[in-house]
Amino acid sequence: MLLIDGKAISEQIKSELKIKVETYKQRTGKVAGLSVIIVGENPASQVYVRNKAKSCVEIGMRSEVIELPATISQADLLKRIDELNHNPDVHGILVQQPLPKHIDDFAITLAIQPEKDVDGFHPENVGKLCIGRLDECFISCTPFGVIELFKRYQIQTEGKHCVIVGRSNIVGKPMAMLMMQKLKQMNATVTVCHSATPNISDFTRQADILIAAIGKANFITAEMVKSGAVVIDVGINQIDDATKKSGKRLVGDVDFDGVSKLASAITPVPGGVGPMTIAMLLSNTLTSFERHYHLS
Ligand code: NDP
Repeated sequence: MLLIDGKAISEQIKSELKIKVETYKQRTGKVAGLSVIIVGENPASQVYVRNKAKSCVEIGMRSEVIELPATISQADLLKRIDELNHNPDVHGILVQQPLPKHIDDFAITLAIQPEKDVDGFHPENVGKLCIGRLDECFISCTPFGVIELFKRYQIQTEGKHCVIVGRSNIVGKPMAMLMMQKLKQMNATVTVCHSATPNISDFTRQADILIAAIGKANFITAEMVKSGAVVIDVGINQIDDATKKSGKRLVGDVDFDGVSKLASAITPVPGGVGPMTIAMLLSNTLTSFERHYHLS
């Protein structure tokens, strides 16, 4: 069984990006910059945003965290986004979710200039992904990170049956769109399951490649997996664990102990897909910079 080490691959990607950032700095006198807006004081969001900013700095990119109060009006938030859209030193803009209830998420997504939408959530980027213009869009970081793992581990996906459990706009749907692209390292036959899928294991048991993005701890058990399948666990769930000092532990959507006994390859949680998401965010930000300055 191959343990897919997303942590190690993400470190490798970051060191490759660091070299590029420095090379471009010498050529243009500029560095790529990511601006992250956080609204309110959600502790989990604060941890994510801090990690993103820290990773930017690690590879020599400029990073800015804009902390705004939960009471900010939608109009004022849109104004801040517009300023970033017009700032030539900002190549990537990200608004951390979730947002307070009085703010319309979609209006915020639409406000970010597609050329700086390094999360890949703007409909223009989603549309380009759907029609296969991958070199002209930004791809949602988590599914993009999964594809990068397939590439770097040379996992064959072409002609395979890929079953994805979950159809969210940020993971399941873009994952399905990517896996069906007519490109090597993708080019799979794709089935998408969700909460209205009856007898879900009838589908998951057919998967050569099984991708779980559900948000339910240990949902995928060994009986649901075909022997020899490649299993990608996107889920991040906190469960109680009295043996830990914090009383909590992170687990994925896949019952790792059971499923790892029959999978040919599997991602752990933590240390699988999670670190890849940040690496691809940095990669997208550098891609935005490259497009802006016509570099490659
Ligand atoms: P969402 O809650 O937006 O989507 C969950 C999906 O799972 C939905 O499509 C839902 O179906 C489906 N689902 C829920 N329950 C069932 C069920 N019983 N049977 C079948 N399908 C079900 O979550 P996200 O896509 O945002 O995230 C999924 C998981 O991945 C979470 O644990 C999240 O924390 C993690 N995550 C990890 C990232 C990383 O970097 N590793 C990044 C982003 C997310 P329906 O559409 O019918 O409701």
